[in-house]
Amino acid sequence: MAQKVLLTGGSGFLATHVLKELLQHGHEVVTTVRSDDKGRFLLNMFEGQPLTYTIVKDISAEGAFDEAVKSDPPFDAVIHTASPYHFDVKDNKRDMLDPAVNGTTGILKAITKGAKSVKHVVITSSFAAIVNPSTPPKVYNEETWSDMTWEKALAATEGGIVYRASKAFAEKAAWDFVETHKPTFALTVLNPPLIYGPVIHQIASLAGLNTSNKRILNMMHGNPVSPGTPIFVDVRDLALAHVRSIEVPEAANQRFFFTAGIGTDKQMGDVIRKNFPDIAKNLRDDLSDTIPPYKFDNSKSIKILGVKYRSLEATIVDTVKSLQQLGA
Ligand code: NAP
Repeated sequence: MAQKVLLTGGSGFLATHVLKELLQHGHEVVTTVRSDDKGRFLLNMFEGQPLTYTIVKDISAEGAFDEAVKSDPPFDAVIHTASPYHFDVKDNKRDMLDPAVNGTTGILKAITKGAKSVKHVVITSSFAAIVNPSTPPKVYNEETWSDMTWEKALAATEGGIVYRASKAFAEKAAWDFVETHKPTFALTVLNPPLIYGPVIHQIASLAGLNTSNKRILNMMHGNPVSPGTPIFVDVRDLALAHVRSIEVPEAANQRFFFTAGIGTDKQMGDVIRKNFPDIAKNLRDDLSDTIPPYKFDNSKSIKILGVKYRSLEATIVDTVKSLQQLGA
């Protein structure tokens, strides 16, 4: 049945795919963006479809979502994807931890206060909230939690560590909120690792490409690639999972480790070498091929959300084609 959905951060790499999928499934969407320019881009892209936007400039601010959650007719579901994902962090708390954590608790508070019609909230978390380097399990699944501490997060000098902490604390805050406030909505959390795939969101230039796809761009150009977890998912599969999460009753109150499986940098490079001979000469010979000593279990996402994961080859080929269309 068609639902009215509030989607946060509609201008992002993932969120624009979620928006596309929501509209394809017949849902009506209001999305939050930070500027009219970003909102107009989306209205133009999805012209004639049941889409409007509302401005939320900074998700860290107290009460940021208080007005956005109000709508007539009211919302049935909320999908919260907005959160900073970059490594340019000057102040760990202000630039990364606050928007992630306050953004998450802020939207849950706003719904509880002003949007009692909402039956389902979906939050984009991350493998960063699962990965536990100090005591890794033999098999990673939804039971595993990050071992990050607030002290480590505040003291970290690497943007990647602060980002991972922001995702872990934001997800913990969401489950704590549900535990404490016992809201009337159900919560679903999706935990993807590195997301790759075609770019359909607005970018001013390739320099402004989203953080995960920048790894593929760097590979194509022979630049050093930032360290990354050797598991992946296609943005289109994850977008569909966000939509299924509000449609499938069994997804309520579940956490989903959402990965297609292993994809080392070397394996991605091999896909590029095989499918794009013109770029092959640019590929570095020091791409990491480290396969971790633990396994990954994505069976719950397949069983409940019914998603068929795209292969590494399909994902990387379509990512490269999309980046080439953007001038890479
Ligand atoms: P993205 O393209 O950078 O999207 C992030 C979105 O959040 C953008 O819409 C951005 O708005 C918005 N945002 C960030 N800080 C904000 C703030 N302070 N106030 C208001 N809006 C803010 O990144 P993405 O890869 O699509 O990430 C989407 C979600 O997936 C995030 O929650 C991220 O943590 C999660 N995730 C991503 C990956 C990955 O590999 N890409 C992996 C795991 C989880 P602007 O467009 O205006 O900047």
